[in-house]
Amino acid sequence: MGEVGTVGVIGAGTMGNGIAQACAVSGIRAVMVDVSDAALDRGKAAIAGSLDRLVKKDKLAPAARDAALALVHPTTRYEDLAQADLVIEAATENPAIKFDILKKVDAIAKAGAVVASNTSSISITQLAAVTKRGERFIGMHFFNPVPMMALVELIRGLQTSDATVAAAEGLAKRLGKTPIVVKNSPGFVVNRILCPMLNEAVFALQEGLASAAAIDEGMKLGCNHPIGPLALADMIGLDVLLAVMNVFYSDFNDPKYRPAPLLKEMVAAGWLGRKTGKGFFDYPAR
Ligand code: NAD
Repeated sequence: MGEVGTVGVIGAGTMGNGIAQACAVSGIRAVMVDVSDAALDRGKAAIAGSLDRLVKKDKLAPAARDAALALVHPTTRYEDLAQADLVIEAATENPAIKFDILKKVDAIAKAGAVVASNTSSISITQLAAVTKRGERFIGMHFFNPVPMMALVELIRGLQTSDATVAAAEGLAKRLGKTPIVVKNSPGFVVNRILCPMLNEAVFALQEGLASAAAIDEGMKLGCNHPIGPLALADMIGLDVLLAVMNVFYSDFNDPKYRPAPLLKEMVAAGWLGRKTGKGFFDYPAR
């Protein structure tokens, strides 16, 4: 595959608009597809706001901001993805929605185009099988917020070719990211290690080993983590963490991944972390 000139991004939400922004700032045209003009407007406004903040911090020249914004093409027309050399699906995390999107993209995208998914939990091998280009399908798992986070996990499905890995690696590097190549498996590498660690912090709290503040202080000072595990769980959302642990528990059939009972209790109470103002810590409305 030659140099990527246009990237298709499906979904203008948190991750989609971040990926489109990262492409545009790197001089790559981003065709950003969503289902409604309202979703596209929100996505484009998020990009403009993020670029403005970079300009205010002197990290981006005003002319570079304008050039980047001009490279983002929001559209509700899937047909516009025919222009893309590589398409990244970053729509809602729902298998039925993704299967439907990928069938459409497969029919529209250039024959040689690589198609990637930013899914956090759905099998890349299974998503690849929905398309007729399994060898040109790969997981590109970006981290939130995309413009700030340096890592991209590249997930090889069973069918993914070496050339496809090389194309995705090339794009990730052009976006200023560091890619790591990972085999398809629940949670890939980072969430596979991170989420059980957060869950273990909840067990420690539940067993009364230490207070929430002490557990977080311990991991910050003892392991040099920039944020404690319970504060990070609050930031991710306790419902999201519980859902991930449940996927690990059922997919690996291994009790070591059982969610901490206190985590389930907190979710049942509607205490989901920052987004509800209460989790392991309190977040008073500002
Ligand atoms: P989001 O809810 O912010 O955005 C999803 C967008 O997809 C919405 O704008 C929605 O309108 C759009 N969409 C739904 N159906 C569509 C369709 N048929 N065609 C086009 N667009 C459609 O979600 P998000 O947080 O950006 O997550 C997107 C993907 O990225 C998910 O697969 C998620 O697992 C993954 N992910 C999320 C994070 C994170 O921290 N949020 C991190 C890594 C990966």
